[in-house]
Amino acid sequence: MPSPVIPPLSSAAFALRAAAVTLRADPFEVGDEAALHHEADALIVVDDGRIAAFGDHAALRRALPPDVPVTHHRDALVVPGFIDAHVHYPQTGIIGAGGKRLIDWLNHYTFAAEGEFVDPLHARHVADLFLDACLSHGTTTASVYCTVHPASVDAFFAAAEARGLRMNAGKTLMDRHAPDFLLDDAQRGYDESKALIERWRGRGRLGYVVTPRFAITSTPAQLEAAGALLAEHPDAWCQTHIAEQLDEVAWIAELYPERLDYLDVYDHYGLLGPRTLLGHGLHLGEREWQRCHDSGTTVVHCPTSNAFLGSGLFDWAQAKKTGRPVSVALASDVGGGTTLSMMATMGAAHQIAQLGGHRLSATRSLHLATRGAARALQLDDRIGSLTPGHEADLVVLDLGHSPLTRLRMKRCDSIDQVLFMLMTMGDDRAIREVYVMGRPIGVERLRMAVADDAASATA
Ligand SMILES: [Zn+2]
Repeated sequence: MPSPVIPPLSSAAFALRAAAVTLRADPFEVGDEAALHHEADALIVVDDGRIAAFGDHAALRRALPPDVPVTHHRDALVVPGFIDAHVHYPQTGIIGAGGKRLIDWLNHYTFAAEGEFVDPLHARHVADLFLDACLSHGTTTASVYCTVHPASVDAFFAAAEARGLRMNAGKTLMDRHAPDFLLDDAQRGYDESKALIERWRGRGRLGYVVTPRFAITSTPAQLEAAGALLAEHPDAWCQTHIAEQLDEVAWIAELYPERLDYLDVYDHYGLLGPRTLLGHGLHLGEREWQRCHDSGTTVVHCPTSNAFLGSGLFDWAQAKKTGRPVSVALASDVGGGTTLSMMATMGAAHQIAQLGGHRLSATRSLHLATRGAARALQLDDRIGSLTPGHEADLVVLDLGHSPLTRLRMKRCDSIDQVLFMLMTMGDDRAIREVYVMGRPIGVERLRMAVADDAASATA
């Protein structure tokens, strides 16, 4: 076996020693065993914000210059930073506001909360709190819905930039079927989005997402404007919701009688493609799944939200049908979702799959929240796996974060069982440390900051 090579390092380089696990291929394509890369005793060398080397500790240590400091994390597992592919930061304060179904939930809780984001100070306060909460749950990248107010996007991007985070976000477009204080119109939505793209595109690690909320709250003219924005800015992403609940699907059929189905509405306006993320997709037909496959569009599974709002069960048989698999990523969908923890979300995805008669392995769940999500975002050349050259967004998971996990760990005899235990029992207490571009954020301090911010937030 050839000796491992470590590239020349700067004086700021450091290394982590711990067990580590990452995906090196898509387990839905090649099977779990071939896709998962587990190092029981790994060395991860970090330099200038990037992973310089990753592999077996004993082998790599021989090639590591002796002056490079090594932090040894015992009883820990290093994974790539989690990616939340669909989340609404303005809904942070209404997480767990329940008892309703989608349309009533939007009208009763969501729109009132989003109305407050007309105030830029409120927007920045919630953006800071949201991002610190994401980080303390191990999430280092997300695809984020802001509100209709451009100030909500400015606040979010400024907060993300200050933390050096790779974040995608956009102004929510909505010009009907919502309170007046949340509506733009097709031209204003276009102009404001364009100005935001020009202001933030390519700045730091930020990306702009053209974000019509869904086809109920956008007129055909607004969807057409969204399509124009995407055509003019091929580096932008697109996100929206689709087929979350049946009464929503029926309403779409009334609003767009000329279209084949729900997906065809977005297709008609040029909104599908490999940079598009469609939230939920619980009630799609065969033709729609086929079209998602053909267009390279991602469907984002939001299991805690689907259970909380009674939306339905994700159809894994359709999503990964042999011969025409669809790209799937995992998401919290807070505030319809009930946790920012992607580990808890992975656990919920397993439960939803069980209810639907499918088995979702721990390896596949991890893929959906890391490498698979990075692929869905076309960012898998930068984030989502422990790969030399990638940005060093890392999470150190504590394998003994509670008495019950310590007890359970004694009986875990494979990495699959460890991952299953983490996604079943894990939450933010399992996050020992998070690195953003190689910089440790100090999870304990961050948790206190989130608690202080939440205490001082206006009701
Ligand atoms: Zn959503």
